[in-house]
Amino acid sequence: MAVPPSPADPRKLQLATALQLLQQSGRVLPEPAEIGQAAWLQALIDGLCELSSRDALTGLSNRRQFELALAREIDRVARAGEPALMLLIDIDHFKKVNDTHGHPAGDQVLKAIGRVLHDCIRPMDTVARFGGEEFAMILPNCPPAFGHAVAERVRMKVLGRPIALPTGQEISISVSIGGAFAPQWVRSSAPLWIERADQQLYRAKAEGRNRACLEQPPVSLVSAEEKGMLFGTSQFQDFDE
Ligand code: GH3
Ligand code: MG
Ligand code: MG
Repeated sequence: MAVPPSPADPRKLQLATALQLLQQSGRVLPEPAEIGQAAWLQALIDGLCELSSRDALTGLSNRRQFELALAREIDRVARAGEPALMLLIDIDHFKKVNDTHGHPAGDQVLKAIGRVLHDCIRPMDTVARFGGEEFAMILPNCPPAFGHAVAERVRMKVLGRPIALPTGQEISISVSIGGAFAPQWVRSSAPLWIERADQQLYRAKAEGRNRACLEQPPVSLVSAEEKGMLFGTSQFQDFDE
């Protein structure tokens, strides 16, 4: 029978690449004296998990992490009926930034926008680099009446923070934002929710960019009794209708 490698011998676990990746990302590992010990391995695993959930350029959550957060939020909205808003945020005319100032300047802009967006969120929110020059936010417990104001605040924060390029030049960047609320008391799916926010983003672009368009929040017609039936229990009896 094959003998499993001893966790006490890191060479048998072939950790060289993992260690190299973590060192390259600037992570401080525990003292070498602890190599092979459970705490050291745990720190290594935690470091790798963190690394695989972050976007390398901006340091924000990556698409994988975003989709995990999305799944959690869909679950919460279905169970507790809390309103939740998703915003898709796309930089306007970003290709022109690359074409005019070069790709490294474009990268600098992406990093700066990432920082601004990170400054906009509450601790329970998620902001991610969704891909290319597009970012996404999940805002749990965001009442529909506040949705537009929240999206506008994000748009204005980006617009109001000129970005210094490697050349020393400063440029102002605008974003277009599309937003959609998760349907309360109903189990939506990540692709459907994203698709609805994306339709609003498309509208924001089509209407001239540098604006936020939000889907009209759905009116919940689900009664307390129906909410209870959804889970086969009467746990929601005390909730408001
Ligand atoms: P729109 O206002 O319609 O959104 O136009 P846009 O130019 O922002 O959008 P488009 O999709 O035409 O171009 C996006 C550009 O983003 C093209 C691509 O090269 C650039 N891009 C994507 N990822 C990166 C990156 O990591 N770094 C840099 N510098 N550029 C990137
Ligand atoms: Mg764009
Ligand atoms: Mg885009």
